[in-house]
Amino acid sequence: MEDFSSSNLMDKIVSLCRRRGFIYPSSEIYGGLANTWDFGPLGVELKNNIKKAWWKKMVYEKDNIVGLDSNIIINPQVWEASGHVSGFSDPLIECKSCHTRFRADDLLEGKYGEVITKDGHSQCPLCGGELTESKKFNLMFKTFLGPVEDAAHLVYLRPETAQGIFINFKQVLTSSRQKIPFGIAQIGKSFRNEITPGNFIFRTREFEQMELEYFVKPSESEKWHHFWQEERLNWYLDLGIKKQNLRFRPHQKEELAHYALSCVDVEYLFSFKSGEQWGELEGIANRGDYDLKTHSQHSGKDLSYFDEETNQNYLPFVIEPSAGVERSFLAFLMDAYDEDEQDGEVRTVLRLSPALAPVKVAVLPLVKNNPALVALAQQVLLDLKTKSQFLVVYDEVGSIGRRYRRQDEIGTPWCVTIDHQSLEDETVTVRDRDSLKQERVKIKDLYFKI
Ligand code: ATP
Repeated sequence: MEDFSSSNLMDKIVSLCRRRGFIYPSSEIYGGLANTWDFGPLGVELKNNIKKAWWKKMVYEKDNIVGLDSNIIINPQVWEASGHVSGFSDPLIECKSCHTRFRADDLLEGKYGEVITKDGHSQCPLCGGELTESKKFNLMFKTFLGPVEDAAHLVYLRPETAQGIFINFKQVLTSSRQKIPFGIAQIGKSFRNEITPGNFIFRTREFEQMELEYFVKPSESEKWHHFWQEERLNWYLDLGIKKQNLRFRPHQKEELAHYALSCVDVEYLFSFKSGEQWGELEGIANRGDYDLKTHSQHSGKDLSYFDEETNQNYLPFVIEPSAGVERSFLAFLMDAYDEDEQDGEVRTVLRLSPALAPVKVAVLPLVKNNPALVALAQQVLLDLKTKSQFLVVYDEVGSIGRRYRRQDEIGTPWCVTIDHQSLEDETVTVRDRDSLKQERVKIKDLYFKI
């Protein structure tokens, strides 16, 4: 059996994603665009299922969390106030010869090996050229609102969804009649002009975030910070990620973002091409009252909360679990990827949670040249499609074994096979992807079985 726990897992995932329509390199017919990816028919299903699972856990299963969908482009004063215009930057070093740009911390941490020569000069690890001093590079994408391209019309693509929540805090509070503690959840695209994107979809310049801003009494912020760490870790575990591949990593004081009092990351043990490496899936920060305070000051609007019990106004503290859709997509795929041997052949199988699997059920007539059997299969398909909220597919091409393998490879938890006996007693077989057991089930009970 091949070793797929090491770096070649990434190659297998990238190739599977492309072959089966999860993820394609973007703009390929024009030669591509570096580090940009498009999600294909199965990728969009997996992505949507991740977002649905997050929304269900964070909004539908709670009484005190409501949703929001704010604009990507917002008043640029928001980013002045939030500190992003002055502080949302990475230190950048450029090669004076080949003009490759590096993150200074990558060079210092030795990611590219030794870059200092014996005489003390910094030399480019790629071409040996001289490197510039480190300078701050702001990660926000800029554009202009309307036809005039001047400073007065400069706007930014949001680098996080969170600010859209803070500027709507008062409106949501009033219209939804929530009391503290309560939360506002949002899923949406964010943009960061990253200096070194890479590792497939791990770090890109356009990505989706799933963010919750949870407003609490300042004295209770520690308690809630802990609560959300456990809650979020359990979300990944419940969706099937193996415990040994997840860990918490508290931030050191010096690496805290400008707004954070404290922060704990949930990390996953990724298999990158360079080898196994812990990487951030999600940051869970205690933002204190930084954002509501700065927006109160800059906007001149009172964003405090009136506590009816104590008859006092105060600025709530905010606990923020902020997760990346694409990073968890990659982690779910890596963790689910498996190979075993079936009838002397290697079977690739994605052991994805049924809640995430892009296709939930495949309906397969045993043979395609029996019109009665095919008609029954079509009927079963239609019935499942109309009753369910998820993707059901039909496949009659190739041997039944080959069709099972095709579904295993994309993580379909159940295959429903219509055979000759089905015509006699209105039963079908349901094959389980993981146990490989086949069970006969009455067609009328099928929907409840899966
Ligand atoms: P990193 O240290 O990896 O750059 P970060 O600490 O800047 O990440 P946050 O600002 O905490 O990231 O953003 C919250 C989440 O958004 C991250 O945990 C990650 O899942 C996702 N995310 C952030 N930047 C990117 C990116 N460039 N590409 C894909 N996902 C990202």
